[in-house]
Amino acid sequence: MISLHGCGKTYGSVTALHPTDLTFAAGKITALIGPSGCGKSTLLRLVIGLIPPSTGYVEVDGQRLTPANLQEMRWRMGYVIQEGGLFPHLTASDNVQLLSRFLGRENAARLTELCDLTHFPADGLSRYPVELSGGQKQRVSLMRALMLDPEVLLLDEPLGALDPMVRSTLQRELKELFQRLGKTVILVTHDMAEAGYLGDTIVMLREGKIVQQGSLEDLQQRPADPFVTEFINAQRSLVAL
Ligand code: ADP
Ligand code: MG
Repeated sequence: MISLHGCGKTYGSVTALHPTDLTFAAGKITALIGPSGCGKSTLLRLVIGLIPPSTGYVEVDGQRLTPANLQEMRWRMGYVIQEGGLFPHLTASDNVQLLSRFLGRENAARLTELCDLTHFPADGLSRYPVELSGGQKQRVSLMRALMLDPEVLLLDEPLGALDPMVRSTLQRELKELFQRLGKTVILVTHDMAEAGYLGDTIVMLREGKIVQQGSLEDLQQRPADPFVTEFINAQRSLVAL
């Protein structure tokens, strides 16, 4: 459903993403993983057309992303940006409904539905982001991304800033949510356990290139490069339990 064809991005002399061919299967969850600066966010921004590729192109449902159809395509994707990206001067409710109002598709029933779906307390809707906990802010970002019931969900390190207990609760909830919605999901994370738990497929990146694509077992048992094993081992717990 989404594919990259020789799609790459450079910033001056920095290559954020080398020309890449990659297909994201419809209805599946793909976890993009790799160290900081390896091009994960760049890849996601290319998919949603926030930045134009330097080489190649992106295809959504067989249709090439162009400046002419970009906006319409973008509304078919929900995007949770790194750090949440909520507007601090808007309440949770206004943050969630910003785009649907702009499009004249206001829907109060949908808002209630999303509170249920993301386990967000309805009485928190009138609060500003600063009055919400980290986990609640992420739930609001998720509601905003889901408001228009997009076919595709792009999540850039949605749980990155959360403490471990909130994180593990939200990981479980996200898994349930993904299973329930059956959407095409691309999830960026730097946490191998999270990638393995949530992803049907894992795509590991290093310095703007795909190192390996496969299941957690593939990466563990049949690493395509010593880097894969290094990356996995670096995340082994220091605490022997
Ligand atoms: P990740 O999300 O994996 O941490 P990014 O995709 O954000 O990595 O960045 C990949 C590389 O591209 C990094 O070296 C980063 O510094 C560079 N980069 C990203 N965005 C820009 C930009 N707007 N201008 C210049 N360099 C950028
Ligand atoms: Mg990033």
